Amino acid sequence: MNKQTIFRFAGYKCSLCGHEFGPGEVTYVCPHDGGNLDVVLDYQAIRASVQISDITSQTEPSLWRYLPLLPVSDPGFSGTPLHMAGWTPLYQPERLAKELGLQQLWVKDEGRNPTASFKDRASSVVVARAREIGAEVVVTASTGNAGAALAGMSAAVGQKAVIFAPKTAPPAKVAQLLIYGSRVILVDGNYDSAFDLTIQAANEFGWYCRNTGYNPFTAEGKKTAALEVWEQVLLKMKGAKKPLALFVSVGDGNIISGIHKGFKDLQALGWLEQMPRIFGIQSENSAAVANAYFAGTEVITPVSATTIADSISVDLPRDGVRAVRAATQTNGAYITVSDEEILSAIPELGKVGIFAEPAGSTAYAGLVKAIRTGQIGPDDPVLVLNTGNGLKDVKSAMKAAGEAPVIEPSMKALNAFLAKG
Ligand SMILES: *Cc1c(COP(=O)(O)O)cnc(C)c1O
Ligand SMILES: [Zn+2]
Repeated sequence: MNKQTIFRFAGYKCSLCGHEFGPGEVTYVCPHDGGNLDVVLDYQAIRASVQISDITSQTEPSLWRYLPLLPVSDPGFSGTPLHMAGWTPLYQPERLAKELGLQQLWVKDEGRNPTASFKDRASSVVVARAREIGAEVVVTASTGNAGAALAGMSAAVGQKAVIFAPKTAPPAKVAQLLIYGSRVILVDGNYDSAFDLTIQAANEFGWYCRNTGYNPFTAEGKKTAALEVWEQVLLKMKGAKKPLALFVSVGDGNIISGIHKGFKDLQALGWLEQMPRIFGIQSENSAAVANAYFAGTEVITPVSATTIADSISVDLPRDGVRAVRAATQTNGAYITVSDEEILSAIPELGKVGIFAEPAGSTAYAGLVKAIRTGQIGPDDPVLVLNTGNGLKDVKSAMKAAGEAPVIEPSMKALNAFLAKG
């Protein structure tokens, strides 16, 4: 670790018992109660050395523009995918906004990351951390995207990686794992069983474990999406009457808590005018976090997840407590949607040129429902995160789109076909 990192990385704080640890004292979760650890930054030191304009005046087109707020040092490898995660496009689909009756709608397309999902943010920062601590092998359990992201970021810098995923993961995601040259092990079980096996293997073989909701650095990578929303939207919305409503899909709950952490960091620095309201969207068929939110508790009870949105199909969310708080502490909410609503949201986004995998369209399906129920009104500024690219799961897309017609390659056949209407 270089000096710069040390001065801003102050350690960890347990999200359950509040116990604080020094940077070298723990690696994953709280040794007392297994609680997720928040990375603690020295806000005073950051404030003393960095101003908003130092960030906004940069030309770095990646999440590494937020290095002054990250607990790692610059990993180098500029010119590789590792240094090109984040800084994703922000669309303003006006036709869609009109249709929904919204005055302001943004869609941030995380499918445009190097390995085509939000997970690149976490994996890029975790690989940077792995290099810093000299980890020989990095390992993760994944429904597919986290693995693809770790495999891709590792390949970019020549880092050895091992990926465990359920054998039911969509073929495109498995193809990515294999093409990036990681050691890929598919388990004859679900994501949760891969997760537990990964932790055992990491302990046994001394591998550095990236598991979501286990390694505290994933949320630090994911928080950069909030920093981008701040820079791309909030700084331009100064003086707005209503807070931004941000819609994000939830599986383990690490994206939503990472985003919350990003906004909390900005708030602690005095750089955030108004905390956005965070809405977590889950499938009815994988709703452990939403269930806790609706029951008014932080106690997460596992479910038996079956949703078509494989990236958010989780029995026991590993970051559930902080995921509940992301909504309760920001005046947001949880919303559940059916798998049919998730599927029909794919072509809805497609109509304005955005191709989402089911877990990405889930956030949009949640917005549609929130408007229907009156939770979101016409003057609420809304941002939807598309967390993953539609090419990740073509089978689900085809399910939503239906089959294309096939005709003989002749004008006669074309005319006959068109005449049918
Ligand atoms: C991982 C993932 C999510 C959910 O993130 P969690 O941290 O598990 O809540 C949503 N969408 C996509 C595309 C993902 O890959
Ligand atoms: Zn604790």
